[in-house]
Amino acid sequence: MIVPYSGDIVNAVYVVAVLAFILGLKAMSSPETARRGIVYAGAAMLVAVVVIFLQGTINNLAWIAIGIMIGGGGGWYWARVVKMTAMPQMVAVYNGMGGGSAAAIAAVVLLSSIGDHVGASLSLAGAIIGSISIAGSVIAFLKLQGWMPSKAIVLPARQVTNLAVLAVGIAIGVYAVVTVNTAFLWPFYLLLVLYGILLTIPIGGADMPVVISLFNALTGMAVALDGFALVNGPLGDAGYAMVIAGTLVGAAGSLLTVLMARAMNRSIGNVFFSAFGATEETGTEMKGSLKPIDATDVAVLMEYANQVIIAPGYGMAVAQAQQKVKELSDLLEAKGVPVKFAIHPVAGRMPGHMNVLLAEAGISYDKLFDRDEINQEFAHTDVVLVIGANDVVNPAAHRKGSPLEGMPILDVEQAKNVIVNKRGQGKGFAGIENDLFYRDNCRMLYGDAQAAIGKVVAALKKS
Ligand code: NDP
Repeated sequence: MIVPYSGDIVNAVYVVAVLAFILGLKAMSSPETARRGIVYAGAAMLVAVVVIFLQGTINNLAWIAIGIMIGGGGGWYWARVVKMTAMPQMVAVYNGMGGGSAAAIAAVVLLSSIGDHVGASLSLAGAIIGSISIAGSVIAFLKLQGWMPSKAIVLPARQVTNLAVLAVGIAIGVYAVVTVNTAFLWPFYLLLVLYGILLTIPIGGADMPVVISLFNALTGMAVALDGFALVNGPLGDAGYAMVIAGTLVGAAGSLLTVLMARAMNRSIGNVFFSAFGATEETGTEMKGSLKPIDATDVAVLMEYANQVIIAPGYGMAVAQAQQKVKELSDLLEAKGVPVKFAIHPVAGRMPGHMNVLLAEAGISYDKLFDRDEINQEFAHTDVVLVIGANDVVNPAAHRKGSPLEGMPILDVEQAKNVIVNKRGQGKGFAGIENDLFYRDNCRMLYGDAQAAIGKVVAALKKS
């Protein structure tokens, strides 16, 4: 039998949950403690949910149980089977689910108490942000999954169309609340979902990190707004939990958006007014030729280098080559060659992707340098080994009119010798050519990263 708990106990439990959320977020800021952070935050969410049930004010328990089983079961299953490389798509989908849930909760509040203008206004705001977030996240998922072209899809007069769809959608929503007429909620939701789609399709592949973090922040804000709307209702305490969790997600997501935007050299204003992907791909002729090199020659070059800098990218993650990379680094250091790692903030497919993989392989943190710290070192380095990176080392970023224009990159082309490991002539996520590969000081070490680096390791062991 469910025993109703006193308000004080419930509030005390919420305070504990909130502290655990904050500690969890703090722990997630470093790969070494991130797992612990996930456990703290997960436990806090579990406590916050359980305490709501213990209050005994919940109806429709059977429906809720079915929902939890479907959502919890699906989440548990996908989290177990997802490959590390597909993690960003999963994050995009989960963001979307959060936004969709916020929009659905807002719909319930609007349908049941549209006459309460304060609650309805807050719900309307939650519905707007949540609907944009779910629609945009689905498009981000399709692009990341490769089910939709990752490059910008630019429709004619898109700025005017987008603004019109948003303005009409919001106007209809406001009209529904003012006239207390729920029939207008359908066109309101449809237009906001359409706006989320239109907002996201013109965003080019390279800008996806900003998009994912922005929708993450928006989802948090939508949940917090819903929480405010619920606080006055019978489930007031559930509202508090949503306000707190939503605010934390919104704040952390906003901070991440700022960091990602900085990494891409975009202003936040640019992010919010959807100027992403406005530049179209410009075809540039590649001068020179691709010059292959074999593993033995790479080993010799490295053995006599003053230092080796390794610049990893998405290909290293796909190949799960981090252990081989660690072996390579250890061998070189044992032979007296200093090794450093150049980490671009958007290398891979999620923030911190490279840091996580290298930490997992046991590569010490003090060997990892971010772009600003290492860029001036390339010019004095004998060998740079690029492993499965493309966009983040693409000098096209320095070229006017390129879709990557202005994006700060790792200036590996300044090194004496650049070795690029990739399987063939595949483009990067932004879908544009990379003239680094054709330069005189660049050699191509073809093959899957794990196998190719394995061969370099074997050659170094023999020498
Ligand atoms: P890119 O996607 O630009 O390039 C990866 C390269 O790896 C490809 O050119 C591919 O060439 C090669 N590759 C693929 N598989 C293998 C393999 N098994 N072994 C060796 N090489 C392989 O990666 P970057 O890390 O340079 O850039 C990341 C891009 O993703 C940026 O555009 C970024 O904006 C975007 N992005 C980043 C997110 C983030 O948060 N970090 C999120 C979403 C997008 P080939 O096929 O010839 O092997």
